[in-house]
Amino acid sequence: RSKAEGRGRFRFFEQEMDEQMQARRAIELDLRRALALKEFELAYQPQVDLATQDVVGFEALLRWRNAARGLVSPAEFIPVAEETGLIVAIGEWVLRTACRDAASWPEPISVGVNLSPLQFRSPTLAQTVLSALANSGLAPERLELEITENALIEDTDAVIALLNRLRDVGVRVSMDDFGTGYSSLAYLQKFPFDRLKIDQSFVRGMGENPEAGAIVRAVAALGASLGMKTTAEGVETEEQLAAIRLEGCTHVQGYFTGRPMAAADASALLTQPRRVAEIIEEEGL
Ligand code: C2E
Ligand code: MG
Ligand code: MG
Ligand code: MG
Repeated sequence: RSKAEGRGRFRFFEQEMDEQMQARRAIELDLRRALALKEFELAYQPQVDLATQDVVGFEALLRWRNAARGLVSPAEFIPVAEETGLIVAIGEWVLRTACRDAASWPEPISVGVNLSPLQFRSPTLAQTVLSALANSGLAPERLELEITENALIEDTDAVIALLNRLRDVGVRVSMDDFGTGYSSLAYLQKFPFDRLKIDQSFVRGMGENPEAGAIVRAVAALGASLGMKTTAEGVETEEQLAAIRLEGCTHVQGYFTGRPMAAADASALLTQPRRVAEIIEEEGL
């Protein structure tokens, strides 16, 4: 290969990286305006108790609806929001909106809110949570903060102190995407999580390899012996539902028992409490 050819190739990569950076920068600029333009909304995905088959809560999932971009997936904009620090202000909007929506639901239906690692480095997080609860009138027991293992890597003791402060007032805390981050069982010893959410990659793998099933079973057992609930994420089929029930998970959240939906649809689902089995039947799943 000639030197010139190599240089050409390099230029090509350089150009591609440049384009990627420009795309990110463009997202950042639009994202900076998104809060003021009220472009964010929350979708709510049902969480189902396997013992009763009742919907017992919803997870709030952030959506960005931009005039030019359409509906942007969180996978695309949350990393940019984290890199730029915008996630702190956006996260505060999520907390306040989710608490307000949940306060209109019948008791004791709960709401799960995702917190990004960066929000834990903001000195005002505890105050923001308490103020979102006070302004909405939502009982603290009905708010469940979802944090990932990655939020605990840095300043572990400071994050745990903050979580303890919130837990003391009654707020619940769950560990999200359990098993995919810098997993450390030591975290489970340091903080009494209310719930372990088993990452959907393990649920998805269950049909294909016995290891995934063994991991789901082990996490369900670990949760049970630590007094923590266990939610299997990403359950899409009846077979997966049967399998995770067999492995001993206490809760399920996935397309099979309900897709993320608009706040109005979540409310409608609750005003007419039906067992998930009926919903499934109705939707012809
Ligand atoms: P997560 O917290 O683990 O949320 C679950 C994700 O799995 C959601 O994706 C949900 O739509 C999707 N999901 C649920 N059931 C199924 C299923 O049966 N099959 C499949 N294929 N997917 C399923 P979504 O809404 O795209 O959110 C992705 C991630 O973005 C979330 O993962 C969370 O880490 C992050 N995120 C969402 N909203 C917020 C937020 O308000 N703040 C922060 N910091 N992160 C958020
Ligand atoms: Mg989550
Ligand atoms: Mg998750
Ligand atoms: Mg996830």
